[in-house]
Amino acid sequence: MQNIKANKFPLAKIERLTKNLLTAIGEDTEREGILKTPRRVAKAYEYLTSGYGKDIETVLNGAIFEEKYDEMVLVKNIDFFSLCEHHLLPFFGKVHVAYIPNGKIVGLSKIPRIVDIFARRLQVQERMTQEIADTIEKYLKPRGVAVVSEASHMCMMMRGVEKQNSSAIASAVHGVFQEDARTRNEFFHLISVRA
Ligand SMILES: [Zn+2]
Repeated sequence: MQNIKANKFPLAKIERLTKNLLTAIGEDTEREGILKTPRRVAKAYEYLTSGYGKDIETVLNGAIFEEKYDEMVLVKNIDFFSLCEHHLLPFFGKVHVAYIPNGKIVGLSKIPRIVDIFARRLQVQERMTQEIADTIEKYLKPRGVAVVSEASHMCMMMRGVEKQNSSAIASAVHGVFQEDARTRNEFFHLISVRA
């Protein structure tokens, strides 16, 4: 908690930088429509990068349970919104997270929270996917973990190649999901079926 307070988001600084950016683009920062834009942008960045200030252990605190359950746990279609670190443009889509417990499970609602912590930072999709898998691995020590993300990248859709319908898929697969084709196939089958 003290940590977060010490690293309070520099709203005023971002506000000034945004005003400079608007001027550099050629905008009139006194124009009514964008007069409050620097403040709004600063507040938006505070939210969109709030994952930096969140501590995984605080989020998971008290939500890991001893349990004999040893079948696959799957939370699929978790919406996420992130910013690519190359263009500061959004990429967004869905994440599917599965693990096979080895004596420990985590409260299901915590899995989307873990996704948000890593999505609300400047990211590349591959690293975000890996970080989610590594976190499950570290705190649950499961028999296996598999994470797949599907995303649309505004930096591809709005500029450059302008491929509107392309989506990128990244995966991180560990333990039994890597070693056992049947378990892996079951996971990929489950995430491909609707609802
Ligand atoms: Zn990009």
